[in-house]
Amino acid sequence: MNIALIAHDKKKNDIVKLARSYKETLEKHSLYATGTTGQRIAEETGLNIHRFKSGPLGGDQQIGAFVSEGKIDLVIFIRDPLTSQPHEPDISALLRLCDVYEIPLATNIGSAEPLLGAVKVGVFD
Ligand code: PGA
Repeated sequence: MNIALIAHDKKKNDIVKLARSYKETLEKHSLYATGTTGQRIAEETGLNIHRFKSGPLGGDQQIGAFVSEGKIDLVIFIRDPLTSQPHEPDISALLRLCDVYEIPLATNIGSAEPLLGAVKVGVFD
């Protein structure tokens, strides 16, 4: 599967921890991420990740374009619901495209864990 990983700044520690917990599963798939999220995960877990631009500089839109082209199969986007984001329209657009194309999407750790658990046992194979 092609899996996209994104986290807002205050959630980056959480996504790194998640990626570490699911490293054995994630390394069997093609990983994509926005710039800073991808850098953190790559450096701290050793996972191989294709990095797009940073979210506020267009990375969410790049991932959205991939979703629209059928190149992303699952999105983990750990959002910070308590901090306003300058690129809120881009975030909304990406979430909307996930709904348009019925792409499995988790926006918090509580839903990301079971989604990756499903990937682990081959639910999407
Ligand atoms: P970042 O982008 O991984 O480059 O920080 C994430 C975002 O804020 O959308």
